Amino acid sequence: MGYFAVHSLPMSGSVVTFLTETSLQEMQNVFLLIEHANKVIYDYFGVASSFDILICRGTWEMEVQVVARKEGSNLSLPAGAKLVGITDYRLREIVIRFDAAKFGHYLHELIHSIISKSLPHQLREGLAWYFTYKLTEKHRYAMAWPPYWVEELYVNPVRRLAKMVGGNDNDDDFLKDLATGKATIEYALLPEDIADLFLPEELFYAKKRYGK
Ligand SMILES: [Zn+2]
Repeated sequence: MGYFAVHSLPMSGSVVTFLTETSLQEMQNVFLLIEHANKVIYDYFGVASSFDILICRGTWEMEVQVVARKEGSNLSLPAGAKLVGITDYRLREIVIRFDAAKFGHYLHELIHSIISKSLPHQLREGLAWYFTYKLTEKHRYAMAWPPYWVEELYVNPVRRLAKMVGGNDNDDDFLKDLATGKATIEYALLPEDIADLFLPEELFYAKKRYGK
């Protein structure tokens, strides 16, 4: 049950729903952050998010969303993490805890929503954080950080892949195309830690759990 819903952006037509009582001022702040994140994404990727966005407050409301969505889905979530945002690819929805979210969190989840669903979870996560850093690196107050292990397991191999395919500070055209499903790569030829990102999710986690 939402308190308020609005068609937020002419660009995307996605709907923002508040699941919690929210003041007008708070709503306006949320809309500004979402609109700005959408604009940054559109300018950078040339693609607009069409996922709907649900706004909640506090750890408990987020917990409820996570538990409800885990039922009957293969939503992959970091266990025990203090979640600020999640993207539900199945329902094409984003949930954001607005009392804890910085601009980088909105950006991160909205980037998730334009990343190709056909890529395995670990690669989507690595790419989403890679681009979140890239698009917020000049605005430290807006930055969001993942847990350390997410950085190690997903983001660092993506950084190495970016270097291999010729990405630099201004130009990540191949990675953008890979993320949005416009390009593929012969991943078996890549170094193992990068190739692992392309494995089916179950295999990836089995491999990390049992070592090589
Ligand atoms: Zn993520």
